[in-house]
Amino acid sequence: MALNEFSLIEKFFNREISPGHGVVQSIGDDCAIVEVPNGYQLAISIDSLIAGVHFPEHSKAYDIGYKALAVNLSDCAAMGATPLWATLALTLPKPDETWLKDFAEGFFVMANSAQVSLIGGDTTQGPLAITIQIHGILPKGKALLRSSAKIGDDVYVTGTLGDAGLALQTILGKLPKLETDSQNYIESRLNKPTARLKTGQALLDIAHACIDISDGLAADLQHILTASKVGAEIELDQLPLSSILLGLEKSQAINLALHSGDDYELCFTAPIEMRQKIEAISNLSHTPITKIGRIIEDTGLFGIADKQRLAIKPKGYVHFT
Ligand code: ADP
Ligand code: MG
Repeated sequence: MALNEFSLIEKFFNREISPGHGVVQSIGDDCAIVEVPNGYQLAISIDSLIAGVHFPEHSKAYDIGYKALAVNLSDCAAMGATPLWATLALTLPKPDETWLKDFAEGFFVMANSAQVSLIGGDTTQGPLAITIQIHGILPKGKALLRSSAKIGDDVYVTGTLGDAGLALQTILGKLPKLETDSQNYIESRLNKPTARLKTGQALLDIAHACIDISDGLAADLQHILTASKVGAEIELDQLPLSSILLGLEKSQAINLALHSGDDYELCFTAPIEMRQKIEAISNLSHTPITKIGRIIEDTGLFGIADKQRLAIKPKGYVHFT
């Protein structure tokens, strides 16, 4: 029998909820109901992925499901929040069972690994679009805000930068594809980003400001600088690059690391007294963390290379321009 809105939800999205998640009412009523633990605040973020804008029209359904949730979780990571509950608004051209099965599989692999429960949503017919709202919890008043960077802070990033951007360029045919293993690696960085949840949570009480890198280091660090009314200097030779980017021409690699999006690594600032603690967090969370620069009084973002200081202009993707 063909799927309708209700059988589709039942078949693919109504899963068992982990006990201990404070879910009082899940899928099946007009609202979901959850219990926020005492002493915590709710952290809420929503992201839409539109076919043709955020992913190529014919991307694998598994990857879309995985990434749609991963990018939301990354926003939680950037605040230091622990994600618990997701809602999913799905707009589909048609109820294609194969597509839905793969999409749900990708979504729930990510959800289970982050221990997030899907507690509601909306299902409509139209051009393919996925919107996920994530609800996380944060100890009261402890969030890592963009506005909290202080002059003298170190600037750090997790993981490596530019891999996802390189993958996109090769997929769009703007750069040649790499040999199979390398190509698979960079495509997995693009399609299956790692939300740095453990690192974000460990940075509460340690970091000052934090953001996740969705539009490129320069554009996203600039958001911290603007919100905090400060500037930053970054050492271009310190930008963490994968062995694949190290194999490119240096200026091309640095350009990718500064300006390409989709890495979903964290960029954060912390006082210099925290250096040892940050090294410990890196070891405990098995996540490379690299110090790349410092917060300064002069507003603007500057790159330092060969003892020269040059202004870096952000070029993140901006809708409606
Ligand atoms: P209403 O008409 O009251 O808004 P719906 O018919 O839209 O309710 O949805 C019925 C139930 O299924 C609700 O609990 C809603 O949260 C849930 N739901 C709808 N679509 C999805 C989805 N794509 N994923 C998860 N839950 C969904
Ligand atoms: Mg509805």
